[in-house]
Amino acid sequence: KKSLRIGLIPGDGIGREVLPAAQDAILAVGSSIPKTEFISLDAGFECFTKHGEALPQETVQALKNECDGALFGAVSSPTRKVTGYSSPIVALRKQLDLYANIRPVVAIASPGERGSKVDLIVVRENTECLYVKQEQLITTSEGVKATATRVITKEASRRIGKMAFELALGRPRKHLTIIHKSNVLSVTDGLFRETIRGIPLSDKQYTEVTVAEQIVDSAVYRLFREPEIYDVLVAPNLYGDILSDAAAALVGSLGIVPSVNAGDKFVMGEPVHGSAPDIAGQKKANPLAAIRSAALMLRYMGYPDGADRIDNAVNEVLRRGEILTPDLGGTSTTEEVTNEVVKRI
Ligand code: NAD
Ligand code: MN
Repeated sequence: KKSLRIGLIPGDGIGREVLPAAQDAILAVGSSIPKTEFISLDAGFECFTKHGEALPQETVQALKNECDGALFGAVSSPTRKVTGYSSPIVALRKQLDLYANIRPVVAIASPGERGSKVDLIVVRENTECLYVKQEQLITTSEGVKATATRVITKEASRRIGKMAFELALGRPRKHLTIIHKSNVLSVTDGLFRETIRGIPLSDKQYTEVTVAEQIVDSAVYRLFREPEIYDVLVAPNLYGDILSDAAAALVGSLGIVPSVNAGDKFVMGEPVHGSAPDIAGQKKANPLAAIRSAALMLRYMGYPDGADRIDNAVNEVLRRGEILTPDLGGTSTTEEVTNEVVKRI
């Protein structure tokens, strides 16, 4: 490609503070990637309060028709019900069929004895499970009942499973752990588990991968006690969401953990963290998760050299441990950390 077009969706809160940092990192990479142009796109809660929609169709159309890749900051989704509002990130993943959320969690600095043993990838199914958001509130003479539908399909389990096997195959340990709760949810999680177990039977290239499985609650327990047992983990949507935040705590902060939402044709980088209203507007947001998400996006778009340059710079800043935001025990601002990374790219 001669030039790249990257859609930028900053969203709300610290999403707006960390996405410019990711943009700066990409610009600093220079000739390692094609000339890059950025397209600013709107989505999120503020967008909803201003324009009445959280995810304007122009944003989706621009991503589909004009962009080679995208970066998403974070959006605020109120915990109370707001009529007409629905999280745009959940909708975007579905509308662009970004069926995998790939979340590498690696310790670089010294996050304590256990944290330093973390080197894993959470592969989270991104389109179904409880995130189909089919909820119902039923009031009868007997009381009030709220229900939610949880969808697991064989097709989605198979494609996320293949993605996880593929990732495991490319790593030195070639180990995959299937996360489920089929002791209780034998039909839904049973289908997820059995479908992924079955993959190496038809796709023989994956027989090299050793497969283990773990019930989700004990997976969290073992993650904290012996994180070194994990290499690649594949999980239904909700378990994957929870597990990756837990793994982030082990390596020091949510502020350093990146992800990509990947489909077969498009990738969108996105830090694992949310809009962090508790620190928004205070120049405290750690930009490294967003910067690493930009690197991950470039890697999945086929630009490993550009990605390496960004990752190496981030790792150096973490190892030196001098210029860090407060979440990592430092006193530097978002901008100071960003400049430090850019300088090293
Ligand atoms: P959060 O991830 O925003 O914050 C959790 C904690 O981690 C907070 O204490 C925050 O200060 C800290 N933190 C997160 N990112 C940080 C960073 N880059 N640097 C320093 N500290 C950081 O989760 P939350 O507080 O539960 O949610 C806040 C809002 O974000 C909610 O409205 C939620 O719906 C939304 N959210 C959005 C996404 C997304 O857009 N993908 C993901 C998770 C949460
Ligand atoms: Mn989350």
